[in-house]
Amino acid sequence: MAVPARRTSKKVKRQRRTHKKLHVPGMVECPNCGEYKKTHHVCKACGHYDGKQVVEK
Ligand SMILES: [Zn+2]
Repeated sequence: MAVPARRTSKKVKRQRRTHKKLHVPGMVECPNCGEYKKTHHVCKACGHYDGKQVVEK
């Protein structure tokens, strides 16, 4: 097994996975209730879509 000549510095370790996104793309805050919802989908929390109540909650 290969033995590292020197330990990876804290800085290098921290820089390693910066490109990975934490939040899921296509998720936006509902303008009615502020809950996270999928774009172009009816909000699961309040049932609003495009400023109108679509589903009764
Ligand atoms: Zn909502």
